Amino acid sequence: MKIYPVTRAIKEHWCRRCGKIIKKGDPYKYTESRFRPKITHCNTCGFRSSELTTSETLIQVYETQEGLEDVLATLKNVTPDNAEEAKDLLQGIYDALEGAASSIQDVSDELGDKISNMEEYFQGAPQLDEMQERQDALEEWRTELEDAMSDVSSAQYEMEDEESEEDDDEEEDKLLELSPTSKDSFDEAIDKVEEATSSLSL
Ligand SMILES: [Zn+2]
Repeated sequence: MKIYPVTRAIKEHWCRRCGKIIKKGDPYKYTESRFRPKITHCNTCGFRSSELTTSETLIQVYETQEGLEDVLATLKNVTPDNAEEAKDLLQGIYDALEGAASSIQDVSDELGDKISNMEEYFQGAPQLDEMQERQDALEEWRTELEDAMSDVSSAQYEMEDEESEEDDDEEEDKLLELSPTSKDSFDEAIDKVEEATSSLSL
């Protein structure tokens, strides 16, 4: 989809990304297509992949990916104080991955149905290969997301171990500061989630 820049707004708009009001006379940009309503952005915000496609399937897939990117962006600004907090944060990302994997499963199933229908009625249609490739890519990404879920679980588990060992000789009723080993497990898990999130290739 094409992006149209406007130097001076003739009327007030608002940015779909940050919600800021674009005042009369301000510059802004928008996308427009026969198949999708206009999307307006202020000049600071960039368009995301989900906003630049008219395909229902791609909108759903990119929005899933962007949802994970948002969770990761929030996590980047947080340093957990103790193992408890680190495990909670990891649980948040685990749940996000689980939700993403399940919506990708839905998209992939839907695509699979379309492929079966086409195979039945339009054998040898040129779109079939493309659809099959897309479904394969979605399945691959879903596997990556599920692998990242296991990595997150292991990181949580490692922290649990460490905590219970230390609990024996440390004072009670006091949360221990996150140990360097736990911090490493935490960071590694986040890195793996980041890798998995960006591994989508359509
Ligand atoms: Zn904006």
